[in-house]
Amino acid sequence: MNANLLDGKAIAADLRNHIKTEVQAITASGQRPPGLAVILVGDNPASQVYVRNKQKACEEVGFLSELIRLDADTSQEHLLSLIDDLNQREEIDGILVQLPLPEQIDEETVIERILPTKDVDGFHPYNVGRLVLRMPLLRPCTPKGVMTMLERTGVDLAGKDAVIIGQSNIVGRPMALELLMARCTITVCHSKTKDLEGKIRTADIVVAAVGRPNFVQGDWIKPGAVVIDVGINRLDNGKLCGDVDFEAAREVAGWITPVPGGVGPMTIATLLENTLQAAKLHQVS
Ligand code: NAP
Repeated sequence: MNANLLDGKAIAADLRNHIKTEVQAITASGQRPPGLAVILVGDNPASQVYVRNKQKACEEVGFLSELIRLDADTSQEHLLSLIDDLNQREEIDGILVQLPLPEQIDEETVIERILPTKDVDGFHPYNVGRLVLRMPLLRPCTPKGVMTMLERTGVDLAGKDAVIIGQSNIVGRPMALELLMARCTITVCHSKTKDLEGKIRTADIVVAAVGRPNFVQGDWIKPGAVVIDVGINRLDNGKLCGDVDFEAAREVAGWITPVPGGVGPMTIATLLENTLQAAKLHQVS
């Protein structure tokens, strides 16, 4: 058996086109375009690449995009007062503070300062709480992007056994909440989990968010399962690979995401989707 490929690049391109059309309709009706402000503190090379990609994506769909670069020794007070200004600015619908932050700045304090309706990363406790309560507003981008991919498979999620490997605040936990909301039976695994392999063997849906190259073996996968690989790992030869042994798993799975070209492009497209959603919230209020 050879799994169907869940092509994140193509699904993300579709989503971006859809957003671009909506933005054209908004501006044609005389309203302002959605606006995203991205704050980058310091010069972490990976963060610089992520921020550049986010800005490029914003420009492509017609958003107003503003990049604010701050020195690595910026104080927390300065960052918080900048967020206060952006919270007030009418043309800014989304505020994204690129993580990680330098050690003198507390991430939670910064995230909580962002107005929940401008929290397009979906990390504010208000937005996480709404997801827990099954009344989501702005949802964390990576898990929401995975749900968009799962919809494209046409697989009915209700009643499926889903195993999520990883319990981070940005991927594993919100992923579990999304799948629970879709009526899956969920198992969340982490470094202390016993018999991980046995759990994966029974899963109809596997989401791997570990950060270890080729961690999930192909022969652990149940025949026909949907395999979502969130991991992004750089090998010594410079190539990117996921958390799943792709070549072996694709022989067994029903659906599988590649790395690169799977979940990664969906995360950025979903950030745009969230910013559009935030703009609609602000323009009606
Ligand atoms: P993280 O915060 O480091 O979390 C990793 C999780 O894996 C933790 O919960 C950890 O368990 C668990 N884990 C580690 N070793 C394990 C083992 N041997 N068995 C079972 N579980 C184990 O990472 P993250 O931020 O969630 O990111 C995970 C991966 O996704 C990374 O490769 C990251 O680059 C990638 N990522 C991709 C996107 C995208 O857009 N595609 C977005 C975000 C992240 P403990 O909690 O017990 O330590």
